[in-house]
Amino acid sequence: MTETRTSYTTCPLCEATCGLEIVTRGREILSIKGDAQDVFSHGYICPKAYSLKELHEDPDVLREPMVRRVDQWHKVSWDEAFAEVERGLAPILEEYGRDALAVYVGNPNVHSLASLLYLPTLLHAARTKNFYSASTVDQMPKQVSSGLMFGTFLSIPVPDVDRTDYLLLLGANPLVSNGSLMTAPDMRGRLRKLRQRGGRLVVIDPYRTRTAQEADEHHFIRPGSDAFFLFAIVNTLFAEGLTAPGRLNDYLNGLEEVRALSEEFTPERVAPICGIDADTIRRIANQLAVAPRAAVYGRIGTCTQSFGTLVSWLIDVVNVLTGNLDREGGALFPRPAAGGRNTSGPGGRGRGVRVGRWKSRVRGLPEYFGELPAACLAEEIETPGRGQVRAVLTLAGNPVLSTPNSERLQKAFDTLDFMVSVDIYLNETTRHANVILPPPLSLARSHYDLAFYQLSVRNIARYSPPIFERNPGALAEWQIFLHLTAILAGQGANADPRIIDELTAHTLVQREVATSGSNIEGRDPGEIMDALKPQTGPERLLDFLLRSGPYGDGFDSSQGLSLSEVAAHPHGVDLGPLQPRIPEVLRTPSGKIDLAPQPIVEDIERLRRALNQTGHESQNGHALLIGRRDLRSNNSWMHNLHVLTKGKERCTLHIHPDHAARLSLCNGETARVTSRAGIVEIPIELTDAIMPGVVSIPHGWGHRLPGTTMHIASEHPGVNTNILTDEGEVDPLSGNAVLNGIPVVVERVMVNVV
Ligand code: SF4
Repeated sequence: MTETRTSYTTCPLCEATCGLEIVTRGREILSIKGDAQDVFSHGYICPKAYSLKELHEDPDVLREPMVRRVDQWHKVSWDEAFAEVERGLAPILEEYGRDALAVYVGNPNVHSLASLLYLPTLLHAARTKNFYSASTVDQMPKQVSSGLMFGTFLSIPVPDVDRTDYLLLLGANPLVSNGSLMTAPDMRGRLRKLRQRGGRLVVIDPYRTRTAQEADEHHFIRPGSDAFFLFAIVNTLFAEGLTAPGRLNDYLNGLEEVRALSEEFTPERVAPICGIDADTIRRIANQLAVAPRAAVYGRIGTCTQSFGTLVSWLIDVVNVLTGNLDREGGALFPRPAAGGRNTSGPGGRGRGVRVGRWKSRVRGLPEYFGELPAACLAEEIETPGRGQVRAVLTLAGNPVLSTPNSERLQKAFDTLDFMVSVDIYLNETTRHANVILPPPLSLARSHYDLAFYQLSVRNIARYSPPIFERNPGALAEWQIFLHLTAILAGQGANADPRIIDELTAHTLVQREVATSGSNIEGRDPGEIMDALKPQTGPERLLDFLLRSGPYGDGFDSSQGLSLSEVAAHPHGVDLGPLQPRIPEVLRTPSGKIDLAPQPIVEDIERLRRALNQTGHESQNGHALLIGRRDLRSNNSWMHNLHVLTKGKERCTLHIHPDHAARLSLCNGETARVTSRAGIVEIPIELTDAIMPGVVSIPHGWGHRLPGTTMHIASEHPGVNTNILTDEGEVDPLSGNAVLNGIPVVVERVMVNVV
């Protein structure tokens, strides 16, 4: 009888990166539980983790490449699949140029070591300006504001939640999400400890979320008005002499400019817009100022709105003004062991960030860190002319459900000449593809969270090898990426991907030995490449990043991190609590925090105009639509797992009972919700947890479309909220889609009685 085996790995399902203990026998998963010895999560897991067993066994998961011919899907060999990709893509690139291909990258890629390491190589080979990702429907405002203020787009301060005395949360529900742009397993436990040690938790949100229910204080805020609220906090801090940046004073540019900019935004002026009274705004400003250690944090609700970048900026402005940025118990910059842009080079100064190096062809929206806004993709496919997108490559993404005005994008996908998807499901997006290339499931991959340790509330490093062997004949994800890279580079479907792998590693090594301040500066690249042998693939690249990183052994010492050292600690390596990093973390050209970056200063005029508008009250029948997050749902693919979808219907329209009564809507009936972009019909669920005048629909649903093979998802289809969101509305500073505060009309669906 096959013996049981206990393995330790990291949960790849959300940003919390919990450690898992998984017991297997052969290819069977016997149990999944939290890893009690994990240095970061200490045994905590949420219900989603158990779904990994169901995912592992899901018969709907694709395990062989698929090619669509005359609307029939056929299983094919990898050689046939790549030959088909070459046959489809090469003539398009040849005839119409590189921009005829769009690449869309979905959120699961950020959990994939192989994808994070090899995507840059693939994009380099693609040479298209049409690169899109979930970042512009989710977090780009924070990346832009952080890049402008601190010099790199992942220099995002995270709240030091374990040591703070006062935490102000806006548009965030970490009890359910377990943190986002803030990696922190067991947020419930961390927030409870904050309150047990006498700290205060304050939540500002148009919905009384589960986090708000546990808070000391919750205030409804009108969707999309967080920038006004925060500017009034800034105004109060200046007006009442409460600003105290402390040691940051030596590293600030633009303090007086911020003071001048805030003058108009008094608590009295903004109160009618936000729905929070002036006294409360002043009190919160005072509490933030006098708390020994405090932090402000905002998340998805603050990013997915028209003033997303201004809100993201103001959060860090308040942290600076109250002396809480880069202070223990305030908001601190993590120091990741591998892959951090703000750990490379001498530190203290850098090139800063540039955006807008090119513009989208149709609407003229600027690029942000190499990407164009996902809200532009449909028009780039539809609009004829030079540079029109005729082929799409999706990598673990479902933009048909997750990007605004998804009905328009669906129709646009129908007109493509060719489409390739790297994905494990035949879903609402990949049904449009000509070829689907399925990577192995997460438990058959090695894991290291290159991205999330850059956002982690504690510095750690944790590597886990694959728990399962790949299925016979299956390709690793990085091998799929390199085959696609070879095709895009014009080397053909039969090219040996090992050559590109070699080149990728060599390029990385050469760049690092040429970087001033690196622990391998000036070394012979050949010697470093030899030292990495016999590894290949992601392990070689990760080993290199760890050894040349801030805790690395520098390739000539027995002290410090390497992949073998990290792998020898299956429960993770604890690198300690976050520490102050200013000025070393900065990469701005001035070597200072740019508190008033020019693009942000210019956009404040738009906020000023909105301040002076009248008529912020919604009319009867009109409402503002927001999203919501559910503990058992994160990405749309999770709806194909019974353990995560069972129970009562969760895709419902939440509306306040008073609001519903005015519209003659009753619990359990169906409402018709209409926006500029579309119409949906959805069951009504009354709840006083939502602000009157606001309605909410969760995202990621809408599994009714034909041609998919996600059987459980299609039994609980729900409604796609992105039929209502408007691709024409973006935050102009980041191109991020506006998914919150959508004006809608809500009506009762009349039943015809014959
Ligand atoms: S909180 Fe996130 S990482 Fe932790 S077990 Fe749940 S899904 Fe996995």
